[in-house]
Amino acid sequence: MFINFQALGCRLNEAELETWANQFMQLGHQVTTESEEADVVVFNSCAVTAQADRKSRQQIGRLQRSNPKARLVVTGCHASLNPDTVKEYLGVDLVVDNQRKDKLVDQTLAYLGDLADFNPLFEPAVGESPNALLLRGRQRGFIKIQDGCRYRCTYCIVTIARGAERSRSEAEILAEINLLHRQGVQEVALTGVHVGGYGGDIGSSLYRLLNEILEHTDIPRIRLASVEPWDLPDHFFSLFLNPRLMPHMHLPIQSGSNSVLRRMARRCKTIEFAALVEKAREAIPLFNVTTDLITGFPGESEQEWRQTMDFVARTGFGHIHIFPFSARAGTKAAGLPNQIEGAVKKARSRELHVLAAELKQGELLRHVGSRAEVLWEQQINAELGQWIGYTPHYHKICSTNSRIGASSISEVCIDSVSHDGSMLVNKGIQPQVSLTDIGQANA
Ligand code: SF4
Repeated sequence: MFINFQALGCRLNEAELETWANQFMQLGHQVTTESEEADVVVFNSCAVTAQADRKSRQQIGRLQRSNPKARLVVTGCHASLNPDTVKEYLGVDLVVDNQRKDKLVDQTLAYLGDLADFNPLFEPAVGESPNALLLRGRQRGFIKIQDGCRYRCTYCIVTIARGAERSRSEAEILAEINLLHRQGVQEVALTGVHVGGYGGDIGSSLYRLLNEILEHTDIPRIRLASVEPWDLPDHFFSLFLNPRLMPHMHLPIQSGSNSVLRRMARRCKTIEFAALVEKAREAIPLFNVTTDLITGFPGESEQEWRQTMDFVARTGFGHIHIFPFSARAGTKAAGLPNQIEGAVKKARSRELHVLAAELKQGELLRHVGSRAEVLWEQQINAELGQWIGYTPHYHKICSTNSRIGASSISEVCIDSVSHDGSMLVNKGIQPQVSLTDIGQANA
């Protein structure tokens, strides 16, 4: 049968899709990038914000309308938080909640039973099947290392939807990385819900896992997806002296005000966060730190907001994901007093976007004149031979170079920052098309 995979939300959702796609292909089924052509569509939903919830509902409706004949399997946080409701959505055939999603392939095949239309197209693969990731036009492999979280940040619905922490074994993770590398993937990103808590339930740790990966794999580039800024050992950043570990971390701070962090029940104060960033930059001078920030958390006074803006300006971030507070039913923060008006949240988000753009420009300018090994990911203009890729610091870069190929890594000189301050540029790129077009091409 032909299977189409769709996800909304985090990289963990994407990592899970890749695992299921490879599992189905191992069994002789085929991956299709077109939901209209599929016999089965698997949708990994999201519920991190009210908007994500809405988008998940809308996507299920779109998938059902685009191919009413297909069997629709829905999993992920939106489905796990509302299993009975989602089961009633038009066109939904099977709901697999987060606790059972590691067995999604078995669950789906069991549900389909021996319905003829859903037989494998090929004999189960002897040896390794081609890689679903590359088939889906992606160059970076997301590796799920753990699931769930022991903490209860007051705004977070993920910890409720994903449950307790559970780590995959080191052997399983090493095997998956080596398989991806044999299949042509040059870079992996380690992802989870509480990545820093990896191994707590199996007598390992993130530090130990990274050492194992550096020792027992040859993949050229290893990245960390989002990591909560605590539970990391003092010597953690010495690992980044190995050039295969990319010098970038996404460390969500969420607020720059300690009183707001207390109401969020975050395990990190601003002084601890600043010390962590300093350690990273001491170990690797141009280490890139990016972050998440919530604007308009309940009770956030003007004074607390100023504290956040000052902290952000002092710390400096390569990129900031900005989220206006979204009250999630079932979380403590949804019931807190002094909910902030939408207009105030928006104004604070706008103000922070301006600062974030300035900081990003500064961050990118620090790399101009240097050279970087770039993993090229997407050709955006075949005629002009224009490609987009990412540097080790996780900065997007654009180049015009006909010798580039998808998933190739090449060293280039960083000549400038794009006019809109969104990316780095390798010489000769002053495109005939405006960079806004490139931005739109990437959107
Ligand atoms: S640590 Fe992260 S995943 Fe865990 S509760 Fe807090 S925000 Fe949610």
